[in-house]
Amino acid sequence: MTAHEFTINVTDLDAGGKEYEFPIRAAWLRGALEENEATASTEDGTLSLRASKSGHDVVVHGTLDVKVHVPCARCLEPFDLPIHSDISVLYVPAARIKAPGPAKSEKSDKDAEPKSKGKGKAKEAEEEYEFTSEEADTLGYDGETVVLDDLVRDEVMLEIPMIPLCSDGCPGMSPAPEERIASAEEPEGQGIDSIDPRLAPLLRFKKETKS
Ligand SMILES: [Zn+2]
Repeated sequence: MTAHEFTINVTDLDAGGKEYEFPIRAAWLRGALEENEATASTEDGTLSLRASKSGHDVVVHGTLDVKVHVPCARCLEPFDLPIHSDISVLYVPAARIKAPGPAKSEKSDKDAEPKSKGKGKAKEAEEEYEFTSEEADTLGYDGETVVLDDLVRDEVMLEIPMIPLCSDGCPGMSPAPEERIASAEEPEGQGIDSIDPRLAPLLRFKKETKS
């Protein structure tokens, strides 16, 4: 049962922790993003993690770096968008999540945690803590193997901006971007730039004859 891409065997872990480095294969990402308009770049990415055991829980910290291929929101040209994400997750045995009491499903947990509240708590908390269990995502695992596939996919999708741009200055699809830039840069040239461009030669003629 090694259908998963990113797994951590809990028996390998102790409190001291262990480093992991997984390639984020383009082929895997392509499958993971199947429904999304973004797709994988041709390059593999990297998932670097440090996992350690805390009782029955597994603490995972790390970074994710990968490129996705998305269409630019302005010019519609696909381009490679680099994605970087910091990962801090607490994996707890799934049996404990399902247990009655303060239910902690991953979704309700995120919804019930507005950012303002997080800030307030962070002030009270000790700065030295890498994170509190409230700030970190809490996910479930089967007690033996931590599977990070869903996390990696979610992190990638979250980091794709709503309006991806191939560059900040992307001129977009306008057929005559030069004319628009020129008129934006010369607010004084009101007469010539704000009138119908077909009449511009006439106006120029008028000005020349005036002076
Ligand atoms: Zn563009």
